[in-house]
Amino acid sequence: MYDLSGKRVWVAGHRGMVGSAIVRRLQAENCEVLTASRQDADLRDQAATTAWIEKNRPDAVFLAAAKVGGILANDTFPADFLYDNLMIEANIINGAHKVGVEKLMFLGSSCIYPKFAPQPITEDALLTGTLEPTNEWYAIAKIAGIKLSDAYRKQHGSDFISGMPTNLYGPGDNFDLNSSHVMPALIRKAHEAKLSGAPSITVWGTGTPRREFLHVDDCADACVHLMKTYSAAGHVNIGSGEDVTILELTKLVCDVVGFTGEIVHDLSKPDGTPRKLMSADKLRSMGWAPKIGLEEGVAAVYQWFLANKA
Ligand code: GDP
Repeated sequence: MYDLSGKRVWVAGHRGMVGSAIVRRLQAENCEVLTASRQDADLRDQAATTAWIEKNRPDAVFLAAAKVGGILANDTFPADFLYDNLMIEANIINGAHKVGVEKLMFLGSSCIYPKFAPQPITEDALLTGTLEPTNEWYAIAKIAGIKLSDAYRKQHGSDFISGMPTNLYGPGDNFDLNSSHVMPALIRKAHEAKLSGAPSITVWGTGTPRREFLHVDDCADACVHLMKTYSAAGHVNIGSGEDVTILELTKLVCDVVGFTGEIVHDLSKPDGTPRKLMSADKLRSMGWAPKIGLEEGVAAVYQWFLANKA
């Protein structure tokens, strides 16, 4: 059991959707939250990152900083997705080792798994097959991050762990239609179609791919749980254990938003991997389960969108 109380806890990537949710969740812990702005340290820069860590001396680190984006962004900027993510994780993990950080949690994503991994995907499917080409750049970087954490544990005895969240959604999400993930894109499309009185919304691909979704506040709660209770090599899946088709998700979003028009498919856009459901067994066996259902979560995010973006 790692006790966070009285600790200096650095949330790297605190402005992102996951990092900001972890910062919110840590309010319930008796700890001091540290954050670094981009001006304080460009995390892709090793010297700047190491200097920031040496100056601020965190006891624990949530490594939620990353260059992220949806299927199109990954495909369009492969060099950025691979280079930026490798540099960020290498700089922070090595820096944390140098100053003797007590505990570090590295965060990745479910795209680390092979495209045709048996579903639901258990943790041991890692590196058993070929990746989905549309996001392999990001995936390769995240696989390297898991292995780097495990390598520091093996070579130096560092208490570094990894958690791999499924597709997340929540407040602070990216609603830009060219770079966002599917959930915020659908919320925005349905909302704008409702307002303009458009007859239809366009969904990329066939609508048949299956995806699992988890509200980011549930993810943050799972991260804190793992930080306190998990101490071993090998990553842990963070998911809901349930998936829906993109078409089912679209209908749910339309219901929540109140858009009653048609759903049209743009088959020139990629489907990506056919199914991505992670096994939630390892995390559940550690006594954690999600609290926010999909419909409740989508409704909450739509309210956030109305208050902050619309
Ligand atoms: P992925 O989980 O890495 O494939 O990333 P995304 O969240 O971007 O896409 C998930 C699925 O939703 C893919 O099959 C997309 O083709 C589909 N999709 C349908 N409409 C949209 C949209 O407007 N934006 C995005 N990003 N994906 C969409």
